[in-house]
Amino acid sequence: MNDCLFCRIMAGEIPSTKVYEDDFCYAFRDINPQAPVHVLVISKQHVGNLTEAAALPDAALAGILRAIPEIAAREGLGNGYRVVSNCGPDACQSVQHLHFHLLGGRPMADQMA
Ligand code: AMP
Repeated sequence: MNDCLFCRIMAGEIPSTKVYEDDFCYAFRDINPQAPVHVLVISKQHVGNLTEAAALPDAALAGILRAIPEIAAREGLGNGYRVVSNCGPDACQSVQHLHFHLLGGRPMADQMA
């Protein structure tokens, strides 16, 4: 997937500020942060979004979900955080590679959108 922005970031072809990596995911700071902490947690294996994530091995899905609270703890988000995964055009997904926005460091609005 040479034309995928997030695959190219993982390959080191495009710079990123890495905060975490394991066998299943890579996490880095969003270039346009919407909160004091805004980390993108992306799957190591390329899939377009959650709709396609059933193609991932169960271990990868579980690994990503386990990594998110680990990253939140490392980022000092003991008071809470929000996780968002935009999926498809109605959600304004702009990068077609499975990713989770991890947002924290301030109180979030009490509505989702
Ligand atoms: P989404 O709109 O849910 O697909 O989210 C894509 C996110 O990728 C946006 O929040 C962008 O700010 C972020 N983004 C795009 N390019 C980069 C980059 N080169 N480094 C870090 N984050 C990026």
